[in-house]
Amino acid sequence: YSSLKDKVALVTGAGSGMGKASAIQLAKQGVKVCLVDLKKDHGKETKEEIESNGGEAIIIEADVSNPQELEHAFEKVIERFSKLDIVFANAGINGTMAPIEDLKPEEWDETLSTNLKSTFLTVKYAIPHLKHDGGSIVLTSSINGSRVFSNFGMSAYSSSKAAQVAFSKMAALELANYRIRVNVICPGAIETNIGENTHPKKEQLQKIEIPVKYPEGNQPLEHQPGTPEQVADLVSFLASDASSHITGTELFIDGAESLL
Ligand code: NAD
Repeated sequence: YSSLKDKVALVTGAGSGMGKASAIQLAKQGVKVCLVDLKKDHGKETKEEIESNGGEAIIIEADVSNPQELEHAFEKVIERFSKLDIVFANAGINGTMAPIEDLKPEEWDETLSTNLKSTFLTVKYAIPHLKHDGGSIVLTSSINGSRVFSNFGMSAYSSSKAAQVAFSKMAALELANYRIRVNVICPGAIETNIGENTHPKKEQLQKIEIPVKYPEGNQPLEHQPGTPEQVADLVSFLASDASSHITGTELFIDGAESLL
């Protein structure tokens, strides 16, 4: 998209999966990208790939659920690039998978703050930098937030993802006066590293296991999980002026998995 040239983006969870692929693809279209992830070395590969394609990127270490760290991350973007146009609030974890009766309150809190509080914080701290010239914010929810509830033990995850969808619509309404668009993407199973951050309590999960008609990743369209690059295509579209009349929308990217 030619409208992306010379824009500045902040991408959270940019060290892996959909954040990484989206940062790389935005940079290929001329966007300067700020790569936010938990640890500096998480963003290294992304930055190297962007630079090897002739693009520009900086890494910012921040925990997206920590208000001070995140606010500071936005300050660094302005310090380096003097403006901000695009925000991809994408970092998230599966967290602990366990039946509700076994899920500990602190495990619930970890998932909700990493996935949901972070969304609020990312949008909140983006506003002062986007409100003068408008911009595009894209949030990553999941089909698990509204349509698919066959991943047992995911009550905290699904709750956080559903709330992100509600939040995105409130934000789209509130921020329309500033010409800030807010859209949320709902991926189905995508081939990433998210499983590494999952803590399944396998024996406990057997308590609630019921036969699944269609196993995860068995998507009608391609019969396999989607790729982070396919998600990056959607993020580029939503970030660009090609979607200038689209806000407050939930976009499913799941090869029809949510229709099963
Ligand atoms: P991933 O694990 O490959 O990448 C997530 C990145 O976020 C990692 O680099 C990780 O270090 C970072 N991160 C985690 N917690 C963070 C924190 N507190 N602060 C800063 N960075 C943090 O996973 P992914 O699949 O690319 O996940 C991206 C988003 O997509 C998540 O919100 C996830 O819930 C959502 N999602 C994933 C799938 C899937 O099948 N992979 C499906 C639907 C939705």
